[in-house]
Amino acid sequence: MDFRIPFNRPCLAGNEYKYIAQAIANGHASGDGPFTRKCHELLERELDGPRVLLTTSCTHALEMAALLLDCSPEDEVIVPSFTFVSTANAFALRGSRLVFADISPDTLNLDESRLEALITPRTKAIVVVHYAGVSCDMDSILATASRHGVRVVEDNAHGLFSRYKGTYTGRFGCLATLSFHETKNFTCGEGGALVINDPAFVERALIIREKGTNRSQFFRGQVDKYTWVDIGSSYLPSDLLAAFLLAQLEAREEIQRKRRRVWEYYWQHLHALARENNVRLPVVPPKCEQAYHMFYLILPSLECRQALITHLKEQGILSVFHYVPLHLSTMGMKFGACECPVTEDLSSRLLRLPFYNDLTKDDQAHVVGAVEEFFGRN
Ligand SMILES: *Cc1c(COP(=O)(O)O)cnc(C)c1O
Repeated sequence: MDFRIPFNRPCLAGNEYKYIAQAIANGHASGDGPFTRKCHELLERELDGPRVLLTTSCTHALEMAALLLDCSPEDEVIVPSFTFVSTANAFALRGSRLVFADISPDTLNLDESRLEALITPRTKAIVVVHYAGVSCDMDSILATASRHGVRVVEDNAHGLFSRYKGTYTGRFGCLATLSFHETKNFTCGEGGALVINDPAFVERALIIREKGTNRSQFFRGQVDKYTWVDIGSSYLPSDLLAAFLLAQLEAREEIQRKRRRVWEYYWQHLHALARENNVRLPVVPPKCEQAYHMFYLILPSLECRQALITHLKEQGILSVFHYVPLHLSTMGMKFGACECPVTEDLSSRLLRLPFYNDLTKDDQAHVVGAVEEFFGRN
């Protein structure tokens, strides 16, 4: 079905075709070519100094994190139940036992006040997700993790360039991951990155990303032939994709300005309606500067949400919901019972409104009008 207003529409920043043509002319279409290097340099500079490696997806960057931490069947890994499958699956692939954490009702981020109770002597890592590009309470999470000697990984698929107390998200864990999937703020269709904050991981990350070979040491002239030295896989995106991505990353300020305008329009036009109708809008704590990744409503009930989705569809508007709680999924249930009542409640009532860079004011007014009509306003 075609919608007048889709949920997401990939938007070009301007230089994508030009850069892809250059990448083809360069004769280096495989990984780690000139455009990949430019993306690395841009992200390393803008994020104030971590090592950044482009990957084929955020899913693959998470898999690299699980490999770098040597996660094994002896280990437990704490992940929020309210997240995309890949946050958990990367660690399940190593055979680790997943322990699902509940979320806070305000930000829908991992509930730091109930984190410590989930830690056992087997806990290897805590994976946090900065939901909707609003940072988790990192002071509290890092303090809990360090008391128990547990590593923190940030799944920052939503939050590139968001900040917590002035520091970019993705700079707090030993490792963090980014997504450049079509539905994210900056995209090349499919893509991601591993952000390495602990330099001790750099050398092995290069090897894991190059199929377990020391190929990148060879190119740096540090060894005279390259060979298989560790486990690994093929996690390098083509330089054609990096060319696409560079065009988007260079336009980051304009892209974020557009997304901020979309977010603020929804906020301005819906907050009164929300208050009057027991609907909740996103909460951005004062410590956080958000990434303007999405705009969601939390409706009073599941029935109300489903009825609103249907009403919007009739007006040619596609709205969507997520996530199916992982602890209730077929795979998630294999890790044993866990208590995530807030996740179960909020995931059944959450609705995401259309959100993309080029969403026009007219189309947004149409969305707002349809929501108002549903609640009998105007
Ligand atoms: C999109 C997303 C991913 C997966 O990203 P890919 O680049 O598609 O692999 C992982 N975690 C979260 C929270 C996401 O939103």
